[in-house]
Amino acid sequence: MDGKREFSLYVHVPFCRSKCPYCAFYSFRPRSGEVERWTDCIVKELAAIRHGYLDDAQLATVYFGGGTPSYLPLEQWRTLFKALDALPRSPDCEFTVEANPDSVSTEKLALWNDHGVTRISLGVQSLDDDELKRLARPHTSRQALDAVELCQQSGFRVSADLMFALPGQTLRKWHKSLSGIVRTGVGHISVYQLTIEPESFWGSHQPEGLPDGYAMYRWAQYYLPRKGLKQYEIASFAREGRESRHNLAYWRRTSVLAAGPGAWGFLDGRRFAHHKDLAAWAEAVESGVSPVAYEERQTGTREASEAAVLALRTAEGIDCKAFARRYGRPYLDAIVSKVRQMPSSYFCRTQRGFSLSPRGMRVGNAIWCELLEIGEGERQS
Ligand code: SF4
Repeated sequence: MDGKREFSLYVHVPFCRSKCPYCAFYSFRPRSGEVERWTDCIVKELAAIRHGYLDDAQLATVYFGGGTPSYLPLEQWRTLFKALDALPRSPDCEFTVEANPDSVSTEKLALWNDHGVTRISLGVQSLDDDELKRLARPHTSRQALDAVELCQQSGFRVSADLMFALPGQTLRKWHKSLSGIVRTGVGHISVYQLTIEPESFWGSHQPEGLPDGYAMYRWAQYYLPRKGLKQYEIASFAREGRESRHNLAYWRRTSVLAAGPGAWGFLDGRRFAHHKDLAAWAEAVESGVSPVAYEERQTGTREASEAAVLALRTAEGIDCKAFARRYGRPYLDAIVSKVRQMPSSYFCRTQRGFSLSPRGMRVGNAIWCELLEIGEGERQS
């Protein structure tokens, strides 16, 4: 780092080949002209970001998420890179693109390589073909493994997403997916429990045979570190030095710029989100007005309790001195006093403070609720 202010940038690509039944993300199959309109508007947003924030600053991380960014045709990527290449990036900028196994190609990988993409986050989800069919994923386990290999051979760092607690899934099948991915040598694995979101198709047509995910998560916590992938966040495991710096920016509450419909950002204590509607977002961008549809500025206990929850997602946990300096000693005391009311086995000491133990990570949601209550108390008073 050369002393310049640094930002992260999140770009939301809302397009997918088809909609998965469990998905509640802002994503859909595009209609004619929508991909081109989205691309033109992103180019405008990137130019505005360039002039608004990056005159004397640079990007430390860039993340294309979705949706399925790899679904964008080569032509759109070429247009995007013309705008992206004009944004100053730090020499070791981490640039991640989310991809699905059925839409990575040698040509796309070569183009991404030429323009500084360093990392690919692959939506593998499972290495069991029956599970993939049930999830209505448009790829097979063979395609997933081939995609991992192709990305690795093209020189990218690869992260694989896997899902557990799937309909009909057993611990044995979960282990097969985990061990199959570990054997590929990927440096990063994210594990997500299937949750039935009310807005998803499965929200109104619940699948049968949903297992309890607790034992599966526990197995991942036991197995992956033994294979060299340390748990550094509640859902993330990485080999040394392969942690996602972009995700760490969210958990550490550093500045994140946003582009695209439904994209979230965080700047100077203000969290904001763009219109979660392609047309509304595009109209705003095309007419030169802000596409922000929601924002909140957190202060006091609410800000501190959110910061505590985000920090406790990570193995770093809370650095007590730094926390007190940034949010105030009384807020740290309030959090510590709440933590003392919970079982001590949920926490462990770190050099600079405390973090969740593996057991605590397994009941993370209940711990977040307790901590956020501190902030809720302030809102009601
Ligand atoms: S590919 Fe990903 S973003 Fe697209 S519908 Fe499926 S889960 Fe959602």
